[in-house]
Amino acid sequence: MISAPFNGASTSASTFVPTALVQDGAFARQLVASLSIPVFVLDTEGKVMIWNRACEQLTGVAAHEVLGSCDHWRSFYDHRRPTLADLVLQNRVADVRRVLPGCATEGAPASLCLESWFDMPRAGRRRYLAADASPIFGADGTLAAVVETLRDLTDEKMAQVALEQLATRDGLTGLANRRCFDDTLHAEWARALRQQQPLSLLMVDVDNFKAYNDANGHLGGDECLKRIARAVASEMRANDLVARYGGEEFAVILPNQSLKGAAIVAERIRCRVEQLQLPSTAPTRHVTVSIGAATAVAGPDNNASQLVATADAALYRAKHLGRNRISLPLTEAA
Ligand code: GH3
Ligand code: MG
Ligand code: MG
Repeated sequence: MISAPFNGASTSASTFVPTALVQDGAFARQLVASLSIPVFVLDTEGKVMIWNRACEQLTGVAAHEVLGSCDHWRSFYDHRRPTLADLVLQNRVADVRRVLPGCATEGAPASLCLESWFDMPRAGRRRYLAADASPIFGADGTLAAVVETLRDLTDEKMAQVALEQLATRDGLTGLANRRCFDDTLHAEWARALRQQQPLSLLMVDVDNFKAYNDANGHLGGDECLKRIARAVASEMRANDLVARYGGEEFAVILPNQSLKGAAIVAERIRCRVEQLQLPSTAPTRHVTVSIGAATAVAGPDNNASQLVATADAALYRAKHLGRNRISLPLTEAA
């Protein structure tokens, strides 16, 4: 803890600056300018009074272009919108919660912090920034300025996104992987239970794929799987999920979809794959898929695993009946 042996501008534990230095505004300006953290300061009219070198480097906008203006938003956004510092200045805490749901607030007038993607039009590349904006009060306790500091977290964010991709995506096809399928199915089952809505599932298996591999090599087989994955995914609605369930098998979760609707989607997928006209040796001219469909209204007496088993049994029947077809559960198809 620092004690104040002589007259200074502040005696708080974290700052002690002799009055002579504070009265000389150059001290504060040099201090901010030399920080390696991007910082800008707005006066009470929302005009830029400080825009340090690190802020120039981050935004690609030179200080002389923004000093004395209210155009600082252009450095961050394609369209006009207030920066965090503007929101603190205007004390628009309620608006902040509405406009920026991820934004944390503290105190009054509030300090604000936010992590988000910013357009950065002049820098020419989107950046993921952590922004903190805090009010600065004069000796009389009135608001004198607002300071905003920025941290560039783009690399960390990209690494996090890549990790999430690795954890949830199938490397070959780019579809959701088996783990993501399992998690999504259980989440959708819980939702179907809450909302008492039907949940449908399709199991899609490539016909005679071993023969395709034998004729075209493993790499040729991989290419075929990618084409089929794209074809299946092209038939999906926004809330549906297509996953690579295993080898040459795909699974499709259709929330809030009846068996009739699921059968229509299944038939569209079957046709779409056939229309790819991927040459096959035997017994058909083109690569085809067989599809098993199942639907359940979630309840206390059934579970998601049973839905998978029912769709699997339907797929097995489709294979047994000659492949290149869709099959529904026996009880409901009758
Ligand atoms: P069915 O019509 O009964 O489904 O016959 P099938 O030949 O498609 O089924 P089977 O289970 O006998 O063979 C599946 C083949 O899929 C064997 C396996 O080598 C191939 N396979 C699984 N995963 C991959 C993959 O990632 N790439 C390639 N190229 N082949 C794969
Ligand atoms: Mg197969
Ligand atoms: Mg299979």
